[in-house]
Amino acid sequence: MIDTEIEPSRHDDVETNTPDTRFATPNAQPAASESEPPPQLAASSPLGREYRIGIVGCGPRGLYCLQSLADELQNCESLPPLAIVIFEPSDFPGAGNVYDPRQPRFLKMNFAAKHIDAWPRYDERCRRRLNLVDWLNHDGGCNTDPNSFVSRAAVGQYLHHCYQHVTKQLEQIANVSVLQEEVTSIGQLTEAWQVRTDRTLFNFDELLLTVGHGRWPEPPEKCVCETSAFIPTFPVSENLTQERIPSKCDVAIRGFGLTWIDATLALTEGREGEFHQSGQDWTYHPSGHEPACVYPFSRTGRPMLAKPDESLFNQPAELDDIWASGREAIEAIARPITAQTLSYELWPIITDTAASAINCSTDSSATTSETVQAWFKNWCDATMDADESLRAMKRSYNVATGHAKPDIAWALGAAWRNLYPALVQSVSYGGLASDPWPKFRNIASEMERIAFGPPAENVGKMLALIEQGIVNLQFISGSIEQKPSGSEELLFLKNAVKTHTVDRCIDAVLRSPKECTTLGPFQSLVDEKAVEHLPGAETLHIDNQGRPVKRIGNTPDGIAIIGRATEGCVLGNDTLSRTLHDHPQRWAAFVVKRIQNAEILK
Ligand SMILES: Cc1cc2nc3c(=O)[nH]c(=O)nc-3n(C[C@H](O)[C@H](O)[C@H](O)COP(=O)(O)OP(=O)(O)OC[C@H]3O[C@@H](n4cnc5c(N)ncnc54)[C@H](O)[C@@H]3O)c2cc1C
Repeated sequence: MIDTEIEPSRHDDVETNTPDTRFATPNAQPAASESEPPPQLAASSPLGREYRIGIVGCGPRGLYCLQSLADELQNCESLPPLAIVIFEPSDFPGAGNVYDPRQPRFLKMNFAAKHIDAWPRYDERCRRRLNLVDWLNHDGGCNTDPNSFVSRAAVGQYLHHCYQHVTKQLEQIANVSVLQEEVTSIGQLTEAWQVRTDRTLFNFDELLLTVGHGRWPEPPEKCVCETSAFIPTFPVSENLTQERIPSKCDVAIRGFGLTWIDATLALTEGREGEFHQSGQDWTYHPSGHEPACVYPFSRTGRPMLAKPDESLFNQPAELDDIWASGREAIEAIARPITAQTLSYELWPIITDTAASAINCSTDSSATTSETVQAWFKNWCDATMDADESLRAMKRSYNVATGHAKPDIAWALGAAWRNLYPALVQSVSYGGLASDPWPKFRNIASEMERIAFGPPAENVGKMLALIEQGIVNLQFISGSIEQKPSGSEELLFLKNAVKTHTVDRCIDAVLRSPKECTTLGPFQSLVDEKAVEHLPGAETLHIDNQGRPVKRIGNTPDGIAIIGRATEGCVLGNDTLSRTLHDHPQRWAAFVVKRIQNAEILK
């Protein structure tokens, strides 16, 4: 087995207490507070100096970009001196916060291990680099079923290992520094980008922002406010401890997506309770440290549907042709896609593909595109109560584990997943006009529930907890209110008929992509008008190399943004997949061209 007690790699080529000043401008002011002594800032020579590349945030996407850059640079015959500075506050670059290898193993991936590969497969060299499954089988000493849903911690170990490999490769070409610091803002100078951390300033010729979800939000102070403030879910080992959420208390969870499942597992399996599977069903043996009751609540009560377990769910081979023709049909649609095209061409292709899939899987011809559309409309219109929500979870679990016949929900989810690569191509970079965005957004966010849900195993576990009364869905389409009661603020869960006081509330709703555009480094760029939002998508507008696109004024050189803050402009880019998008490769190729043309180096 892989050692879970792994150490972070050497993180600071530069001592953390001694700021790296090689890239500071002569007149730069330190960003530290006045009470701290200003760091020593060295002047850098404007000519003949190193070409300076800054990477802000090194989770998976920062890693992918560094990997592509290393390969591009290795293909170059002559190179000027290069310096690369990586800003990454977390302990395991490559893994970042989401895939922190120290997190508990019950926090699982939501797609099968066989889809995870940190390397693009474009040449012989890449064939020798291991994907997750081969790495786990080879270096990890554990036999991993490619269809299984492994822990995020194991994926983090893999990603951090890939990062170490990539930085070694880069160190042969460039001077690489890793700073465990958070970038707080970015400014545009005449010929450089200025990056500010709490301790100093750096100037770069080329800057990449891959900050994903940003840092996890801070939990409330450990004091009275815990009873009335929302406690963020991550990191679960720090935020959802028994000290913060005592056993036997009543806990509300805001949100009914993937994160509520992680939070609930942390309060049960994470407290030494045990799940057991007998046949198809799961049962739970409590440890006695669980909360008295967990009450998830959301606006709609609609659950995330279980992802089929491919080892239990036999799919006819003919489905591949159905998916392929659906993708071709989407690729043939003229861009930009208008409201008319969305309603009368694109959406019908998806529902028609789903209808063909279900007919093929059930050997019938009963389902039509219209039946699927009507099902989806009913689904979207429903605000589900506890019984309806539970029925939908049970049904999807039975289908996902091969114990019930495929249904329309399965077919629509499978169609969305399989047509998604074509949707990414058609919709990204303004492929969808601004008018149809609200409708598309509604479809896409509903399809997240239907297509990109949890592994069946996790739905089975939640059903066991509901059965046992540890999870209660009676406020599932309810809301929460903070109200003073005596000298305290208390939290009240409400539904149409009753109110219930809870002792704690966990926030299981992550920052939206739009909210990510207001993270420190982006807000400073928006304020300086260096970047713009794409109308309709409402996230940052970039081109296929990650370069900001502006309608007014000059598009800035030397900066790129890749990841969650551009979701919509680039569809579905908050993923581990390396095949769905090729920004890292395009970005790296462009940067190398810029390096080779850079005046300062001649
Ligand atoms: C709980 C959770 C579970 C997920 N599960 C899956 C899954 O199963 N499958 C899947 O495909 N996707 C999953 N995702 C989506 C996930 O975000 C992507 O897979 C992937 O992490 C995106 O990588 P990223 O590098 O763009 O962003 P992130 O992983 O968020 O990494 C960004 C990095 O930037 C750093 N950073 C942030 N702000 C700053 C700053 N100001 N200065 C310097 N550094 C900064 C952070 O420390 C972090 O390391 C999940 C997301 C979450 C939140």
